[in-house]
Amino acid sequence: MIIANWKCNGSKKMIHDWVKEFKDTYISSNEFYLGIAPSYIHVEHLADLLNFNDLDIKYGVQNIDLSNGARTGAISLDMVHDMECSFSIIGHSEMRNIYGETNENISGKLDLIDKSLDIIFCIGESAEENFNDKTKEVLKNQLMVLNDRYLTKNFTIAYEPVWAIGTGRTPTPEQINEIHNFIKDVVQSSSSSNTVPKVLYGGSVNENNAQSFFNENFVDGALIGGASLNGSSFAKIVNVYNGID
Ligand code: PEP
Repeated sequence: MIIANWKCNGSKKMIHDWVKEFKDTYISSNEFYLGIAPSYIHVEHLADLLNFNDLDIKYGVQNIDLSNGARTGAISLDMVHDMECSFSIIGHSEMRNIYGETNENISGKLDLIDKSLDIIFCIGESAEENFNDKTKEVLKNQLMVLNDRYLTKNFTIAYEPVWAIGTGRTPTPEQINEIHNFIKDVVQSSSSSNTVPKVLYGGSVNENNAQSFFNENFVDGALIGGASLNGSSFAKIVNVYNGID
């Protein structure tokens, strides 16, 4: 599974160029889940271009709000369904840190979505927490929202150390593998379904380092920010995942 997170970037022109660059580089043979989360207002434009170019790429959103109605600036689950999105990212560290997203909010969003969308649930520790050896404790706390939850195949976790996002720094592939194994264990024992979830790695993945992460047993794909903004770079990462390069 590979998901692009375009964050608050993009324009109609950028998307047009992106699709062209992606198509020129992409070697299409994937059986896996490939998705893009553009800004809300570009969802339809992207969807039309993917469709027109016959690209089997799902599209989704970077967040949803807890309800509709008097919530200026928000986007509801109904609106996301209206746009025929396949998935939503939930709990991204930028939502937690800039907009004050809490475990309680996240839990409400997971209840709301249930099985109606695929979910990419983000967790990750800060640089300070990492430095103080608190990574597992922090992740366990973030994973508490999954306690006694019945999880299905629509649910995926993205491990994104905050200090690795957009910095060019990453944990080693071995460290990532160990943390993914830990996450899978915690979720297996705390969810009521005893599910071993897919776990993606996110944080400064690019076309040069992607292979080293994908080689690890417990890495089930990637969530990609910066490097997904260029259609050609993103296609190269997808080709690596495909085992073509
Ligand atoms: C992200 O923020 O989800 C992310 C993975 O960003 P980047 O790839 O730019 O580090």
